[in-house]
Amino acid sequence: MIELKNIIKTYRQKDRLVTALNGVSLQVGKGKIFGVIGASGAGKSTLIRCVNLLEKPTSGSVMVDGQDLLQLSASQLAQARRQIGMIFQHFNLLSSRTVFDNIALPLELSNTPKPEIKTRVLDLLTLVGLPEKQHDYPSSLSGGQKQRVAIARTLASNPKVLLCDEATSALDPETTGSILKLLKDINQRLNITILLITHEMNVVKSICDEVGVISNGQLIEQGTVADIFSHP
Ligand code: ADP
Ligand code: ADP
Repeated sequence: MIELKNIIKTYRQKDRLVTALNGVSLQVGKGKIFGVIGASGAGKSTLIRCVNLLEKPTSGSVMVDGQDLLQLSASQLAQARRQIGMIFQHFNLLSSRTVFDNIALPLELSNTPKPEIKTRVLDLLTLVGLPEKQHDYPSSLSGGQKQRVAIARTLASNPKVLLCDEATSALDPETTGSILKLLKDINQRLNITILLITHEMNVVKSICDEVGVISNGQLIEQGTVADIFSHP
């Protein structure tokens, strides 16, 4: 479902070039959960942002659902990106909109008819376990509840792939556990492929099928959770 081949990404920082990714290749099969773990500055954010071309790789190829994203026209890319949802550490909800209106936003932008939006948003709120919060504003929610709303919002577009950028890093351990459980549930019930980045070992251990360890812009190990964590 996701295939990155030999991704190189360099950034210009003042008068020098920094290599954030130095030849990263990975594959995530349909319906799998792949976790990339690494320390701060290792290249995790850059890597996950290359999958939907929020960052354009300097070289390499990005295939998602059989499409080579770097070869698409702007309109084809916009279409392909609707298949790729993303959630973030700080949730990125709109504070001026209610929970309902945050989740409805992608549907409004794709001109979904109003009655359909209503049914869909209420279904999504039930899926993420917040049916009673539709009229509330994000500021009145806990971190875990905000992330549930963000998940519902991204699912509104029916993505095939979900990218999770440190999605539990702002949450306490118990809330982290409940969000990971929700992600696993979504993965299984909706057959959504998940790529996540994290600096937390227990996140990859608890829900990932496969793990990549990134260091200095390179995947230095890759395998199943058992492969990676079994050796002494
Ligand atoms: P991580 O998410 O693992 O902390 P990042 O992908 O954010 O790592 O960063 C990897 C490297 O790339 C770091 O050296 C960082 O300073 C650099 N970097 C990331 N984004 C940019 C940017 N927009 N401009 C310049 N350098 C960047
Ligand atoms: P994280 O790794 O948690 O995403 P960072 O602090 O590494 O947080 O990066 C936050 C944002 O700043 C990212 O969008 C990244 O691309 C950008 N960034 C990181 N390092 C630099 C840098 N040296 N110069 C410019 N932008 C950067």
